Amino acid sequence: VVKRHINLMNDKDTISSERYDVIVIGAGPSGNTAAVELSSGGMKTLVIDQRHIIGDKLCTGIIGVECASIVPPREELVYRSASEVKVYSPNGTSYMLGDDTCHALIVDRVSYVQDMAENAMQSGADYLLGSRVDSINIDDSKVQVAGNSGDRQFSFNARIVILTGGFRTGLLKQVGLEKSNQLDYLIGTQIKVKARNIDRTHIYTGSGVSPGSFAWLVPTDGDDALLGGVSRERLNGGLDGLMNTLVADEIISRPVSSVENWGIPLKPIPRTFASRVLVAGDAAGFAKPTTGGGIYYSILSGKISAEVTLEAAIDGDFSDKKLSNYEKRWKELFGNELRAGFYARLLYESL
Ligand SMILES: Cc1cc2nc3c(=O)[nH]c(=O)nc-3n(C[C@H](O)[C@H](O)[C@H](O)COP(=O)(O)OP(=O)(O)OC[C@H]3O[C@@H](n4cnc5c(N)ncnc54)[C@H](O)[C@@H]3O)c2cc1C
Repeated sequence: VVKRHINLMNDKDTISSERYDVIVIGAGPSGNTAAVELSSGGMKTLVIDQRHIIGDKLCTGIIGVECASIVPPREELVYRSASEVKVYSPNGTSYMLGDDTCHALIVDRVSYVQDMAENAMQSGADYLLGSRVDSINIDDSKVQVAGNSGDRQFSFNARIVILTGGFRTGLLKQVGLEKSNQLDYLIGTQIKVKARNIDRTHIYTGSGVSPGSFAWLVPTDGDDALLGGVSRERLNGGLDGLMNTLVADEIISRPVSSVENWGIPLKPIPRTFASRVLVAGDAAGFAKPTTGGGIYYSILSGKISAEVTLEAAIDGDFSDKKLSNYEKRWKELFGNELRAGFYARLLYESL
């Protein structure tokens, strides 16, 4: 657990402090990555998150090797490396996919994200946890970010805000930006189980398991594993059939947590910047439409948002024209990948 975060609580009902250069809303992979770069670049940075425990968001913790090369996880956070996966088709037959090369790592996701926050703190960023942002007001000279930490209100001013509040954040509307189409998302469902003798990830396909998509059994620490699935529609007990089969086959024993659901965006939002605002990570709709993996794009977009913010600060220009460089850069870097993935998904769903 990250220990050092600012303690601004005082006797007053309202918490307010000196002005920041930049406020980052959301301490996920995207916000923390941005905060590392911003504070290292000399900007006075505040990160606000409604969670008390950083990184504790529904996720499987699989990162590709390209992601691990940008933000390497500490060795002790890597449960295992994934080279081959075992794919089960609807009729029960299975085949191995992959080779000897390591394509991905299964990591302790919570600690991985907390390490990013720790780095940002060491570079000088302040963190305000357990604090929910309710309003963002932008005028010609500043951004005002307000909300509450339990029964206390807070309000901070900054020159720019980076919005990394995750999937379909309601804060987009407040800064005059739109969410993507109502239908352009997946719902991920996951539950913790105990697994016996699983040494690699299992993938289950077929509409009976996860319509138009797939389900997974991913071994993590010791005999712990994550059983999950992703689909356009809430699986609503859809994992039960698979779980019963796996229990009957003695591959897993009964679940050790309750089922959790959370959304995964399939498409970028129409516009990811405005005057004094940049949007990154899931909030901007950046995830791989084929697999639902979003940590990599969250990190990349967090980095680009920080670069563009640092450049804007040098020129003292936070206009939407200046910040439009952000959208140009992420599109150059991974815009085509996201688009191709979206069409690959549509094709798969139509089969
Ligand atoms: C079931 C499931 C499994 C997944 N597995 C993988 C995987 O294995 N690999 C992978 O790459 N991706 C995976 N993903 C996707 C991945 O989790 C996300 O893409 C990634 O976490 C996005 O990072 P982020 O920083 O943009 O947002 P988040 O990690 O969602 O962080 C956003 C933060 O903002 C905070 N916040 C939101 N609103 C407010 C507010 N108003 N005030 C203050 N704080 C606020 C939240 O508390 C949260 O901490 C999975 C998703 C699901 C649903």
